[in-house]
Amino acid sequence: MGGMVAAICLAREGHEVLILDAGSRIGGIRGYHPSIHVTPMDMEMMLSYAGIDLRPKLTALDKFWRLGAWGDQYEFYSKTGMHLETKLLGVERGPRKTSLDTLLYDEARKLGVKFQFSTYIEDPKELPPRSIIATGLCPEMYETLDIPYEQVEGYYFVEKKKVRPEKDVILYFGDFSSDYFYCISLNGIYYGFVFQREPMDYGKLLQFEDLLEEHEGERHKWLPFMCRVPLKRFNQVRLFTGEHILSGSLTGMMDPVLMFGIQGALLSGRVAARAVTDPEAAMAEFRVLTHFYRHSWLTRKLVEAVPTIYRKYVYRFLRYDMGEFLKRYGAYTRPMLRLMDKGIPGYEWGYLAPNIPASEKEKDRVARFERVVARACSRIPAARIPQAIRTLKTMGRLA
Ligand SMILES: Cc1cc2nc3c(=O)[nH]c(=O)nc-3n(C[C@H](O)[C@H](O)[C@H](O)COP(=O)(O)OP(=O)(O)OC[C@H]3O[C@@H](n4cnc5c(N)ncnc54)[C@H](O)[C@@H]3O)c2cc1C
Repeated sequence: MGGMVAAICLAREGHEVLILDAGSRIGGIRGYHPSIHVTPMDMEMMLSYAGIDLRPKLTALDKFWRLGAWGDQYEFYSKTGMHLETKLLGVERGPRKTSLDTLLYDEARKLGVKFQFSTYIEDPKELPPRSIIATGLCPEMYETLDIPYEQVEGYYFVEKKKVRPEKDVILYFGDFSSDYFYCISLNGIYYGFVFQREPMDYGKLLQFEDLLEEHEGERHKWLPFMCRVPLKRFNQVRLFTGEHILSGSLTGMMDPVLMFGIQGALLSGRVAARAVTDPEAAMAEFRVLTHFYRHSWLTRKLVEAVPTIYRKYVYRFLRYDMGEFLKRYGAYTRPMLRLMDKGIPGYEWGYLAPNIPASEKEKDRVARFERVVARACSRIPAARIPQAIRTLKTMGRLA
């Protein structure tokens, strides 16, 4: 995706563009699509920044959300009528007509971009200088380019049927995964994915299956999944590698907390295109877009360090009406939620931080808080981080 956005931007500027793709057709990381992804995105911003109208392939998920956490069930939408504005969107990935990949492919073809499929690049040194590398979460390129990674493992199912009201999202947290499970039905596909950033054995899947059967009355045919994400280090976002330019998730333009990758991958395409002709301007833009990567990465590590037993109690808050809770305690929750929003590259408002009217005074306070966090993160010496993480984890285990 990041590669196609870069191609579209370059073709519009009059460059001749050739895309080499290992797949036999469009559709992202090999073997795992079609799939349905959920992503925060500001569609207007995306249109004005990347200049591509993605709206025909994005579906608003504006009142959905059921959450299962450690055996308890929580509804997200408001009983009091106050809408929790999520700005989350459903996106289909893969080769079908209804996918975002097809929209980008059609746009690129219209502009004269050439595609060469079934062409696997083993070593980018084979490519001319200033070529853009956008191999996403496919494992091999991480080692070739020496990009630190975490391995994600899990299981998914994809069924060609509609279930429940389409567009409802169900999310599960629990002992079966240090990340989570989500499922959604969209465009006639029912898709579910359970994963974590460490090895996931079959026993964990069986444990989760029983839970799903108990709560949703469903059993599925699961397929194994493995990919890599560039979220290993505190300071690992990068736009260039040797003579080449990176684009897509490979740059680290990904949310370290929940691993939202779509928004960052799309924006990075625009930055990579700029880097071809004006590397300095592109680098300045890249820094702005990834400004909050570090704080978000630390947030993730803090979450990992909290023992499960405490995490469980945090979810208990959700038993209350979510909208009402945020309205009542907005002054306290908003700064934290806003920071989580900002961990998604280039994303401003509204994926978690709801559109509860805020006074000017409160806006000022949030802005001040953001500045303090950003400054603190930029001063943390990266070399000390691994030791600090080990200490945190030990504390987590001891607590
Ligand atoms: C199953 C799954 C579920 C996800 N769910 C979500 C979600 O719900 N929300 C969200 O925001 N993000 C989600 N993500 C993450 C998000 O999809 C990715 O971060 C994003 O799509 C990456 O985009 P990209 O442009 O970097 O790579 P991709 O769009 O994956 O494109 C990479 C391309 O590179 C090609 N390629 C790979 N290696 C080579 C090679 N050596 N030579 C030539 N070509 C090569 C591939 O064939 C592919 O076409 C999910 C990812 C997966 C895999």
